[in-house]
Amino acid sequence: MNPSSRTPEGQPNRCPLCGKDLRIEPSRPPGDAPCPHCGQLIWFDDTEEPSLRDQAGRLHKLAEHAGKQMAKGNFDYAVELYEQCVLEDPSNAQFALALGVATLAVEKTLRNE
Ligand SMILES: [Zn+2]
Repeated sequence: MNPSSRTPEGQPNRCPLCGKDLRIEPSRPPGDAPCPHCGQLIWFDDTEEPSLRDQAGRLHKLAEHAGKQMAKGNFDYAVELYEQCVLEDPSNAQFALALGVATLAVEKTLRNE
């Protein structure tokens, strides 16, 4: 066992508020951590900007999370997540399409087992 060798210095990032470079270990999930200089909460997940943390950004994250569940074979959970996306943003065709795909995947699993 070598628990400390994975990310010795944390992930490099830049604070959008004070502009300082920083290396901190974000909490996962959800993958955010406060800036040690000014306290601004910074997202470390991909290239997500803190300014996207409105409804659209949140739903995008939810859909992304659902996609990861799909990849893991957790189709039931993915359907739940996509359903929430569709409920909150019924005009988004991508969410509706993804929900359809996930629902089909659940049905396929039920038929095979
Ligand atoms: Zn800062």
